[in-house]
Amino acid sequence: MTRATNVLVIVLDALREDAVEPSLEEPGRCFKAKSCISAAPWTLPSCTSLISGLDTTRHRHYWHSDAAVASDLVRCVPAGYSKVGLVNNTVLLPASGLNAGFDRWTHFDDHRQPFERAASLIRRARRRKPLFLLLHSNIAHDYYRRGADAYYDEAFPSAPGEAYMLGDKVIGWSGTTPEERVAAAKTYRASAMKAVAYAREVLDLVRARDDFVSVIVSDHGEGLDYDGARIHHGGRLHDDLLRVPLYFDLPSTIPQSQRSDMAAALASTPVAMTDVLPTVLALAGVASIPSVDGCRIGTAPDGRLVVSEDRRYLYLNDRFRLNVKGRGKNMSRLDREQNELLLGQLAGPPILRSYRSDAAKLIMTCLHSRSGTGTPSDDRRSLLKLGERLLGSPVLFLRGNRMFAFELYDLDGDPTERHNLLAAGGDGVEALRASPWATSVTMPIGDETDDTEVDLPTMLEEAERI
Ligand SMILES: [Zn+2]
Repeated sequence: MTRATNVLVIVLDALREDAVEPSLEEPGRCFKAKSCISAAPWTLPSCTSLISGLDTTRHRHYWHSDAAVASDLVRCVPAGYSKVGLVNNTVLLPASGLNAGFDRWTHFDDHRQPFERAASLIRRARRRKPLFLLLHSNIAHDYYRRGADAYYDEAFPSAPGEAYMLGDKVIGWSGTTPEERVAAAKTYRASAMKAVAYAREVLDLVRARDDFVSVIVSDHGEGLDYDGARIHHGGRLHDDLLRVPLYFDLPSTIPQSQRSDMAAALASTPVAMTDVLPTVLALAGVASIPSVDGCRIGTAPDGRLVVSEDRRYLYLNDRFRLNVKGRGKNMSRLDREQNELLLGQLAGPPILRSYRSDAAKLIMTCLHSRSGTGTPSDDRRSLLKLGERLLGSPVLFLRGNRMFAFELYDLDGDPTERHNLLAAGGDGVEALRASPWATSVTMPIGDETDDTEVDLPTMLEEAERI
C-alpha cells in the first residue's frame, strides 16, 4: 500500500432502496448502484455476507449459537488499521460472532450515539493509524417502536402527532385500520429520512477530510404492503426486501479513470451484497484480498446468478410468519401456538432461496415434512396444506418428504413480482428446465445433517408436479 486510506462502511438497517431521501449522490464523488441485491432478507445472515463476502448458501449463519464468523476480508485489513464496529441492533451483539477480527465492537441502544462516536473516531483518524469503521444504525428498522414519532414530527411538521408505531403488531400488522397502515408506512419513511440525514452528517465529515473510501448500504428492506401480505422482513425474498441502496463515496486521490469505471459498472450491472467489501478494500489499496463469493464491482462474469436465502423465517399468505427457534418476540400467545404446531410438522427449517439472472428471478421454497407422524398420505396432505398457504401462487413439486414451490418473475416487465410466470400453466416449467442457468440452480434433497443438493433439471426429473 502506498498510502493508507481510511475505510467507512455505513449500514442503515432495513432501509428500502426507494427510501433514500434525498439521494446521497454527488457528481464525480458519490456513485449510486442501479441495483444491489442483499444476500438475505434479515439482519444476521445479510450482515454476515456483507462482512465475509460469502453467500448465505455457504455461511448459513442464521443462528446466534453458531461460532464466530471468521471473515477473511476483515482479517486482510492490515494490522496497522484500527478496526472498529459500532452497532445499533441487538442481533449484532458479540453473540452474533460478527465482531471477530475487530479491535473494538460496541453496541448502542440509542440511535444518535453510534453516529456521535463515529464522528469522533473520524475526526481523530491519523495516517499512522488509519481507521476501518463499520457504522450500523437501526433508525429505519425501528419505525415501529416508540421514538419514531419524533422522527415523524420532524419530517412532517405540518401534521405533527400523526405517527403510528406498530409496536408488537409489526410482524402481522393484525388489527390495524387502513388509516393506521398509511400512517405506519409514513412513519417508516420519516425514520428512513432521519437515518439518511445522520449518515449524511458523517459523510460530510469524511468528504471534508478526503482520505476515506466510504460505502453506504442497507442489509435488507422493509415490507409495507399489507394487502399484498408483504410486510416487515425475513421469510420472503421479494425485491422490497432484497433490493437495497448502495453508494460509494470516493476521495479525490482515486484516479479519474477508476472513478469512471466504477460509475459505469454501478450503473449497468447488478451488484451482490458480497461484492461490497472486496470492492471497498480494493479501492482503499489493501493488497492481497482473499478470494470470496463476491467479486470487485465491474469484474463479475457474464451471466452471473446472484443467490439470496433465508432459513429462519417463512411468511405465509395470511401474514403469519413462521419463526424457527422463535422465542416469541412480537408474537402473541396464539402466534406462538401456531408456530409450534407448524414446526412440529417439519423435519427442519424451511429453505427459501432466490436466484437472479439479469431480468429473471426464480424463488424456491423448500419444506421438509417430518415423517412418521402419520401415514404417508397424511404427510402428503399436511405438506400440500402448507403449500396452499404459501405466497405467490407457486407451482408445487413433491419429492419424497420434500415439497418444492417455485415462482418465476420477469423483473423488467413485472418489477413488483406480482405475476408468477409458472402459475399460468403452459410450458413455463419446461422453459425453466431448459434455461441456460438451470444447472446452476441447486436445491437440497438430503436430511437435516446431509447437505446433498441436486440441480434444477435433476430435481424436476425426479419430482411429481402437483
Ligand atoms: Zn436488519
